Amino acid sequence: CGIVAYIGHRQAYPVILKGLKRLEYRGYDSAGIALIQDGEPGQNPHLAVYKRKGKVADLEEFLAGKNLNSHVGIGHTRWATHGEPSDRNAHPHLSGSGRLAIVHNGIIENYAALKQELLNKGHVFASDTDTEVLIHFIEDIQQHNQCELEEAVRIALRRVVGAYVIVILDADHPDTLIAARKGTPLVIGVGRGEHFLASDPSPIIEYTKEVVFVNDYEVAIVKADELILKNLGNERQTPFIQKLDLELAAIE
Ligand code: GLU
Repeated sequence: CGIVAYIGHRQAYPVILKGLKRLEYRGYDSAGIALIQDGEPGQNPHLAVYKRKGKVADLEEFLAGKNLNSHVGIGHTRWATHGEPSDRNAHPHLSGSGRLAIVHNGIIENYAALKQELLNKGHVFASDTDTEVLIHFIEDIQQHNQCELEEAVRIALRRVVGAYVIVILDADHPDTLIAARKGTPLVIGVGRGEHFLASDPSPIIEYTKEVVFVNDYEVAIVKADELILKNLGNERQTPFIQKLDLELAAIE
């Protein structure tokens, strides 16, 4: 029901956690976060997913004391539509290889047909969600076409029926978030060397007032210091940066 993502010079976890709390008013049954964690000296960065049924505060307590050093991550509060509220159905969900993590708000209406196609190809699913089907589908397209992730997302979304906001983290490309929307809002806060993504401006406003409202059928390729918008036909769209006049007090 709510999405927050961050890429930039700050620690991602506290930004995302605080943002998820600001979205709690929307209602939800589970919460989760995926981070690409900086490795300890001598270790490679790795994708870590933490999620559970219950409140954001439960997730926070579960994560207390863990080393969550990271500058890129995605977070989610879920309002279950496909699959009961449970730890395994909580977002983020992983692709078949475990390389991609996704958060999603909305419904993939034709997920059953896509899931059957993927089951026939040997895909194994760890949840009952429509969301997990989408990230498997995207990775399957990428592997089959040997293309970039953003192209696989565009191909997948041309076949998807439904409403969605998605944000995807790729363990092999920790410098980029890929996001898209149709029918449900996605706001990108533009900072200095950082970007904030969220379902509404409330998680963003304390960091920057410059925001871009992504349009339906647009894919955002978001790096710390670059924001590219493209339509599903791979044509560049000019981001329209708006200045929010909303004060923080007004949303508290
Ligand atoms: N349809 C997805 C699910 O049931 C996303 C629900 C949401 O918008 O939170 O997991």
